[in-house]
Amino acid sequence: MYNKNIYQDLDNTMYRELLDDNYIDEDIDSNNFSREYGKFAAINRFCEGYKDFLSVAKTERLAVIEIEKLAKKAGFKKFNPKDSVRPGDKIYFINKNKNIILYILGYKEIINGMRILGAHIDSPRLDLKQNPLYEKKEFALFDTHYYGGIKKYQYVTTPLAIHGVVVKKDGTSIKVDIGEKQDDPIVGIPDLLIHLSQDQLQKTAAKAIEGEDLDVIVGSRPLPKEEKDAVKKYLMEYLERTYRFTEEDFASAELEVVPAGKARDFGLDNSMIASYGQDDRVCAYTSLKAMLDMHRHPEYTVCGLFVDKEEIGSYGATGAESVFFENTVLEILHAYGKDSIYNLRKALENSYMLSSDVNAAIDPIYASASDENNAAKFNYGIVFEKYTGARGKSGASDANPEYFAKIREVMDRFKLHYQTGELGAVDKGGGGTIAHITAKYNMEVIDAGVAVLNMHSPMEIVSKADVFETYLAYKAFALYTR
Ligand code: MN
Ligand code: MN
Repeated sequence: MYNKNIYQDLDNTMYRELLDDNYIDEDIDSNNFSREYGKFAAINRFCEGYKDFLSVAKTERLAVIEIEKLAKKAGFKKFNPKDSVRPGDKIYFINKNKNIILYILGYKEIINGMRILGAHIDSPRLDLKQNPLYEKKEFALFDTHYYGGIKKYQYVTTPLAIHGVVVKKDGTSIKVDIGEKQDDPIVGIPDLLIHLSQDQLQKTAAKAIEGEDLDVIVGSRPLPKEEKDAVKKYLMEYLERTYRFTEEDFASAELEVVPAGKARDFGLDNSMIASYGQDDRVCAYTSLKAMLDMHRHPEYTVCGLFVDKEEIGSYGATGAESVFFENTVLEILHAYGKDSIYNLRKALENSYMLSSDVNAAIDPIYASASDENNAAKFNYGIVFEKYTGARGKSGASDANPEYFAKIREVMDRFKLHYQTGELGAVDKGGGGTIAHITAKYNMEVIDAGVAVLNMHSPMEIVSKADVFETYLAYKAFALYTR
């Protein structure tokens, strides 16, 4: 089903072969509704779970906690090096609380390759600096350094929440989560009132709000009888009392400022979802669910790779560049008693991967930024992106046509809706994913995910039908690509 709108084609019933009973409501189906209604109901049911995930998994750490919770519920067990393993086992590994990898062991030996779904669980945001707290004009503020690519002007005058940990010298980790519950306070960054903005409005959009001005107001109440920095002192006393950490402890903290609030339906027809952090948690959730709901044992080992740090280049111990992923494959080979370098290299080289990441949807107002014939569209299903990069494909991992042809065959066999996409028209900009990193193992890899409007903004938008179709496509890929 290449380049066809999902809603124009709801009588496609093949999706049932990819589902267990979770998403099929036989009552609805038999109650004089058409078969089409069955798929429509399945889309909506799936997306309710997705919105719940988005609303809690607002940082990479929170995503790892939520993924582990859902995986355990589906029968996955944390890998123990002392355990033996066998085909059919469902196991997972967690790396430094910010990176999680799931496996369903296949009937074929791992040396034959795996089917890998790799998504990232970090999103653009503002990180607190290591000395964040200061007072100015009798306000207390947190100084931040932005993380990933943002349009800075989108972050002022918008409700913000703070999530993360403060780790004390004795090793205790204090969790901070403020701004999501209805009775929690929110925080935010001020912007100059329009009445006094004549000078500001002459600046370019890149300069109107400077990175060093993305500081978050967190208090205004002074500590009585204090002369200097009374507001800052009151706030620090409050934090010490409530959370039991000192100002110095900020040095070993990781606190992230993100748009506050839950994921919601978007559009009067409820056909879309608006939320912060859908790049790339939309592909993380659909990849995860493809594994959790796998209704038959896979022939090839299926791997769900959920990495951190993609938005800043995938460096670091918890990013895709880390050898942690490779080490987990070695751990499994070791548990099978087959942990030679030869087996490890062959297992990786023989693997097929979908780099599960989002693509830019064509924007009705800024359509000229895309090439219409090669841009992803809402409601046309999973988007395959042969190459990313910028200018002359610089930085791209250009996928092999022999490989994509195999995937097309599976998509069409199950009547799944799919399209191809490219991040914008030539020379308009560009971007990257983790595809080129795992391609270093000489495995086959192509980017595949959901089309997003407003990418990297506090309110990213996706189509519900695309979310569901991508989930089905990931499952079909993992089970049926040969
Ligand atoms: Mn991404
Ligand atoms: Mn991104």
